[in-house]
Amino acid sequence: MTLPLSTDGPHPSQPTSRPTSRPTSRRRRRASAALLISALGLAGLAACAPVTPQPATPTFAAGIEPTLYEPAAKPCEAANAYDKPGPLALRNLLNATYGTIAAGVTRSCDGSTSEHHEGRALDWMADYRNPTLQPKALAVIDWMRSSDTQGNTTAVARRLGVEYFIYNKQMYGSWNNFNPTPYSCGTDPTACHVDHIHFSFTWAGAYKQVSFWRGSPLPAVPAGGTTFSVAAANAAPALSPTQLVAGRTYTIEASGTYRFSTAAGAIADAECSAAGTSWTAGRSNPTYGTSALDLLVGGNSSFGGSTWTPVSDTGGGCNTRDHRYRMTVRPRVSMPITGVVLDDRVGNSGSLTLRVVAAS
Ligand SMILES: [Zn+2]
Repeated sequence: MTLPLSTDGPHPSQPTSRPTSRPTSRRRRRASAALLISALGLAGLAACAPVTPQPATPTFAAGIEPTLYEPAAKPCEAANAYDKPGPLALRNLLNATYGTIAAGVTRSCDGSTSEHHEGRALDWMADYRNPTLQPKALAVIDWMRSSDTQGNTTAVARRLGVEYFIYNKQMYGSWNNFNPTPYSCGTDPTACHVDHIHFSFTWAGAYKQVSFWRGSPLPAVPAGGTTFSVAAANAAPALSPTQLVAGRTYTIEASGTYRFSTAAGAIADAECSAAGTSWTAGRSNPTYGTSALDLLVGGNSSFGGSTWTPVSDTGGGCNTRDHRYRMTVRPRVSMPITGVVLDDRVGNSGSLTLRVVAAS
């Protein structure tokens, strides 16, 4: 089925002005109406109003994900354009609650930047103009922004790993505590997200490694450190099994080598690659610029990167002795780490190892 899926308009900016809050004012109106009804002794009327259900919400252990925004990568990678489990799970939950409503996850690369190209966005076609679908969409938005029994605000969105959503010309960003701000879009009902809600997910949310599905957030990096591997053939970032704690300092060490093509001698490590008889850190290509063949670690835009310091510098910022490199990070919020090799992946094989240890 071809869905009328839009591009998601401009890359979400991070507005600082406090927006008007439609759902809040809607709730306020509803509350005033309820007060009026009970004041008039007409409480029985309330039972006549149809109540739109919200999706079933599990019980959670202590702890919750931070609000986090991990922008879609540029360029788009065709090999990463497949449905991730987190958006699929939300789609299933919404269908179970409201009956099946058309919804799509992955779109193929088209030159624009979108989490849809990474299989970590969901378009749920609950049209605002449809009197049956609108209450369902608004119930979902109220649910996303609701607090949990532990008093965490915007708890459902955070626990699902939703990083922003857009509906009916309003953007609800994690960077703005999921308060609505006007979404500039012209008049097209798809571009303006009048005919659907768009949800984008963090990588942990995309991989379903968040407390909504797990019961608790990913555990903190243990005292002995954590290790995970990044396969050089995978366009999808690998996700660490444990997460960094806000404000702590960590050393990330990358080691190992991988093959970046089937040609003889096509070997690279986290920072450098073989060029004839020597190694160089200076490889570049049109797709990744001077980061080509590097190992990129995320997070989000304020954390990580692809700049590595050799544990032993054997020349030119490379480590041909044992191919170990390090990076020091201090995240401002608790979050898992991702790793991906920046290459076209044609003929790639092997993997690099990432080891994460908290500074004492
Ligand atoms: Zn979308």
